[in-house]
Amino acid sequence: MKRLSREHFVYALSRDEPPAYTLEDGETAVVETTDCHSGCVSREGRVLVARPGANPATGPIEVKGSLPGEALAVTIQAVKPAEWGFIAGGGAEEGESFTVIEMADGKAHYPWGLVLPLDPMIGVIGVAPEGEAVPTTTPSDWGGNLDTREIRAGSTIYVPVAVPGAMLALGDVHALQADAESCGTGIECSAEVTLTARRVPEPLWPCPLIVRDDQLILVASADTVDAAAWRAVEEMAGLISKLTGLSYVESRRLLSTAGDIRISQIVNPKKTCRAVIPRAALGEAWPSRLSFRP
Ligand code: CA
Ligand code: CA
Repeated sequence: MKRLSREHFVYALSRDEPPAYTLEDGETAVVETTDCHSGCVSREGRVLVARPGANPATGPIEVKGSLPGEALAVTIQAVKPAEWGFIAGGGAEEGESFTVIEMADGKAHYPWGLVLPLDPMIGVIGVAPEGEAVPTTTPSDWGGNLDTREIRAGSTIYVPVAVPGAMLALGDVHALQADAESCGTGIECSAEVTLTARRVPEPLWPCPLIVRDDQLILVASADTVDAAAWRAVEEMAGLISKLTGLSYVESRRLLSTAGDIRISQIVNPKKTCRAVIPRAALGEAWPSRLSFRP
């Protein structure tokens, strides 16, 4: 299996960035990622050097054959965090202090004695956008800094493709993050992500979708949390309608009673909410592998 080193990374998703790596359609690889502070914080919680940028995303990774107008499916097999991570923000001045979290046996050890189970997820994942470059601090319809907890092992994320080869990049892994990410950080860490990238030769949806065994999730970003939440409602109602044949109004009514709108993050330059519909609510319309082709 290919191993894609963390030495090649970007601070923006850009159609002008040449690929650092290439995967075949359907290939599985291990992708090394660096923490959100670009590896500039020591295990003792000190700043070693000023960070050159935030959220380095390993890549770009060309997926052979992927074409503009299609979608890219990225199945996350495993997210393996490093042995330690840190939490920042929460009212401290930028770079002033870090809570270092030691991690072992799938657990986070807080310095005050608390032990919590890890739930590793990917903060930044996306492809090159159609227009202007998207900094890796920002969420977008092409992915990016989505900070959405379900982007973790066992999930497949689908994003629209704008450039040949898609140009996937990912980083900003959190060993643990709660909804909203209210400090602006989770347990930030370097990691190894095992993923499979697959071309979906048709347009799916103009924003990221996530399929898990039991949930279909639509990720919507906008300037405010309100706007992101309403966008998640409207887009998910449209998606339910497309999958089930129900009308838009019926789909809204189904979502209002059987689906959740959840906050992903309230701290990035654009805010992110998600609509989550359980498998049971879609019945036979459940997409085991997302495709609109009959
Ligand atoms: Ca993030
Ligand atoms: Ca982060």
